[in-house]
Amino acid sequence: MNKHAPNSPEARDIAYHLHSYTNAELHQEVGPTVIERGAGIHVWDNTGKRYVEALSGLWSVGVGFGEERLVKAATEQMQKLPYYQTFAHRSHGPAIDLAEKLVSIAPVPMSKAYFTNSGSEANDTVVKFLWYRSNALGKPEKKKIISRFRGYHGVTVASASLTGLPYNHRSFDLPINGILHTTCPHYWKEGRDGESEEEFASRCAADLDAMIQAEGPDTVAAFIGEPVMGAGGVVVPPKGYWQKIQAVLAKYDILLVADEVICGFGRTGNLWGSQTFDIKPDILVTSKQITSSYFPLSAVLLNERAYAPIQDESGRIGTLGHGVTGAGHPVGAAVALENIAIIEERGLVANAARQGEPLRAGLKALADEFELVGEMRGIGLIAALEMDPGRAKDEMAVGALGTAMNVALMRHGVIARNLGDTIAFCPPLIIDDEGVAEIIAGVEKALKDVSAAHG
Ligand code: PMP
Repeated sequence: MNKHAPNSPEARDIAYHLHSYTNAELHQEVGPTVIERGAGIHVWDNTGKRYVEALSGLWSVGVGFGEERLVKAATEQMQKLPYYQTFAHRSHGPAIDLAEKLVSIAPVPMSKAYFTNSGSEANDTVVKFLWYRSNALGKPEKKKIISRFRGYHGVTVASASLTGLPYNHRSFDLPINGILHTTCPHYWKEGRDGESEEEFASRCAADLDAMIQAEGPDTVAAFIGEPVMGAGGVVVPPKGYWQKIQAVLAKYDILLVADEVICGFGRTGNLWGSQTFDIKPDILVTSKQITSSYFPLSAVLLNERAYAPIQDESGRIGTLGHGVTGAGHPVGAAVALENIAIIEERGLVANAARQGEPLRAGLKALADEFELVGEMRGIGLIAALEMDPGRAKDEMAVGALGTAMNVALMRHGVIARNLGDTIAFCPPLIIDDEGVAEIIAGVEKALKDVSAAHG
């Protein structure tokens, strides 16, 4: 029996709601934290307890909670045209405006924007477009896609296959054929003794080159990666990594897909992660902060090299047989346009760059002070503390220290996220000095508790 009163929201959640990324059996016992409202960087649960949302929901509520301009944009669009489709030559103002806007602010020259509802759908679309394109080019064998271990690209069948995390594959009979995973650029975990960051980056590129050679360069369509890995543990690539990877891809006529679902719209201190790392993608995927998650929306941007064969093929064989009902939803598009306007007008990208410094400095000081922390890493307004179970006084299973930190952080009013033993921080772009100080103070208290128990 769980501890919740009969008919309470918690009891009803346990009775009726199957949760994503939750241990279904454990949930029957512990139940949910029910969040009721939000304002700025804070949310409140149904007991009235306040938390600083240091993960922006799921890395996504860039402009913070309770942004009235987004409410107004959605309301007005709902009243004018709540829905229309974009199949069969139909269109509407918000989708047209958003496509134009995205192409105009893309980090490299892009040709077209294609709309979907989630990051997963966008990445599934990318896989299908890559296959379609190779058929168009008369290279039906050029279909393999190389991703990375620990990369995160979603959960639908193809996107979960791109994802390089065991629990996204285990018991789901994934990955599908033709999707391969190469070395994760995680210097702290994968770097060898005495190996410099740059040497490690060279090794990652050499591993990719060897994989392409082994598979046959004519069988590989694309390489996909997040500029900074998010859900796989906030992995900031080692110096020179993206230059070296791009040099390998250029040798073999392999397209580059940048999954900017987390990095896009300011997270790394520039509008795009591709700008921070000088990545020149052929295809760019964006979602989450595009609407600050007030409405589900994602977009795939294609450059001419990626797009032109798709146009040719559909001209030849007939309609492009792909698309979802909500593609380019007018309310989502209106919210995205207003959200991007807010980010631009309030200088939130520059704010993310500015506030990222004290956030990372504060976390770094705690990493130096507390023995249980292996390292702090981050860039812009995304960071992580790597908890090191090897330093705990007791034997701890992988992820147990991270879970203990998560529980302590919640107790002290900080919502972050433990990805195994990595504690991820990704606060709203609007955060100010006070908000950063609140996060650091809560993390310090949590580290004291966890160190007292396990240090
Ligand atoms: N790509 C990246 C980089 C992501 O972080 C995520 C979500 N965390 C996705 C894709 C999948 O997005 P969604 O959950 O909207 O399907």
